[in-house]
Amino acid sequence: MSFVTKEALEAAALATWETLKDRPLSPKDRTAIAQQPMPVQPPEVRKHNMDEVACGYTEAQARVEASRCLQCKNAPCMKGCPVSIQIPDFIREIAQGNYAEALTIIRQSSILPAICGRVCPQENQCQKNCTVGVIHKDVNQSVAIGRLERFVADWQRAHEAEAPIDNTVKPSTGKKVAVVGSGPSGITVAADVRREGHDVTLFEAFQKPGGVLVYGIPEFRLPKAIVDKEVEGLKQMGVSVVPNFVVGRTRKLKDLMEKDGYDAVYVGSGAGLPRFMGIPGEELVGVFSANEYLTRANLMKAYDRAASATPYYPAKRVAVLGGGNVAMDAARMAFRLGAEEVYLIYRRSRAEMPARAEEVEHAEEEGVNFQFLCNIERILGDDNGMVNAIECLRYELGEPDASGRRSPVAIEGSEFTLPVDAVIIAIGNASNPLIPQTTPGLEINRRGNIVVDESQATSLPGVYAGGDIVLGAATVILAMGEGRRAAKAINAYLATK
Ligand code: FAD
Ligand code: SF4
Ligand code: SF4
Repeated sequence: MSFVTKEALEAAALATWETLKDRPLSPKDRTAIAQQPMPVQPPEVRKHNMDEVACGYTEAQARVEASRCLQCKNAPCMKGCPVSIQIPDFIREIAQGNYAEALTIIRQSSILPAICGRVCPQENQCQKNCTVGVIHKDVNQSVAIGRLERFVADWQRAHEAEAPIDNTVKPSTGKKVAVVGSGPSGITVAADVRREGHDVTLFEAFQKPGGVLVYGIPEFRLPKAIVDKEVEGLKQMGVSVVPNFVVGRTRKLKDLMEKDGYDAVYVGSGAGLPRFMGIPGEELVGVFSANEYLTRANLMKAYDRAASATPYYPAKRVAVLGGGNVAMDAARMAFRLGAEEVYLIYRRSRAEMPARAEEVEHAEEEGVNFQFLCNIERILGDDNGMVNAIECLRYELGEPDASGRRSPVAIEGSEFTLPVDAVIIAIGNASNPLIPQTTPGLEINRRGNIVVDESQATSLPGVYAGGDIVLGAATVILAMGEGRRAAKAINAYLATK
């Protein structure tokens, strides 16, 4: 598909809006409107910069897109949203130009719309069962709910005086809550608990708060200024943010409660432990976990060669192993760190890829070379112990496995070698083990995830947990939803204490 500029999309949307704005629209009129494309930076330009790829809807685009919504009584879209945002209501307000009202509706269910609007896997959630997509028999024609959510959140940031965020805090209760980990679940708990008047301290192991939103998801997908703003909002509410504090090492969880006077603790420490393949050559120089690779680039700004002291690995041919969002981010980051050829090695086919559809599309446009039905058998190195090639094997799809996906079966004798000088392993993360290991009595399951009940309470009184440390590597909106539930339970627990 040829590239359409932001200006051309805006002109087309303005022309469409002129035809829609002053007349009542029938359901047929609404479904006849095509989905508004997201304006993006041209692929050849963006693959060499860190600026956000997707530029966001303009006002005309947002109103045209909102006009496509049929205001379904049963709202199947809401059933797909893990936090049940009142989707038809906020979209109706956008169509009428009432953006502040739209935001108020969204914030009743989600405190991070600028983030979820950008990174939610919408095609598998709210947009999956949208009636408009069903009518067109194409999920890509569903109402672009995530883009509209993002539009409203971005509008608010540009019009703060008109639509201030209500950060009112109730009078002090004198009770203290520790939140461990500043990812989306920790941020949500800190806000919801502080609002009730409790003292909240947010402990973060890294030097900068934000969790994966800051060190994992790249700037070109989620500008860090957006996350910083959320953290700033917490500070303005009176949340004390303590970086470089590793609970379990700097201070044990039980000491926070027994010696430091915290009445309750929320553990939102995420799934930061990278998995490796266990194949020959993984110890060579030039092999990275995606976590390390992305953290160097995002948190420590390795891409900013003039201003950052973080060493970066000058690879020209990079192989990334995996098929999720993390793999896609690592592959696209490799171009931005100077790679000329990037291979994405995935052992199933495109249809089974768990990454967001938009990220796969963007990676393809930027020139990532997808090797489907393929896996790395071993990594080869030179005399200095540095990666110089990978040996791969081709696969075909066999019978479905326990997950329902057809499992890959190796094709004998299909080995081939690709010359590369870096390999990034992005095959998944396990839950962070430090807190379970240093907190006797905290129940975990066999995968190392903390066990919680329906209110996110753990096996220890006053200790709650949520997000990836409970779910295993999941999504931002699920982490936020768990945080909401935990905060409600913590507030109820403190009210009776
Ligand atoms: P995290 O965001 O992991 O935050 C946990 C925080 O706790 C971290 O800052 C960590 O440093 C801190 N911590 C850990 N241990 C301690 C300790 N002992 N003491 C103090 N602090 C501690 N999801 C999506 O929905 N869409 C996407 O597009 C998407 N892309 C992703 C891309 C990448 C590269 C990665 C890695 C993940 C992606 N995800 C995506 C997943 C999503 O980011 C996570 O599911 C979500 O961030 C989990 O939130 P959380 O609050 O549970 O934990
Ligand atoms: Fe869709 Fe995510 Fe927004 Fe829910 S939070 S409406 S799933 S984009
Ligand atoms: Fe609108 Fe689609 Fe939701 Fe119906 S399902 S209310 S058309 S967003």
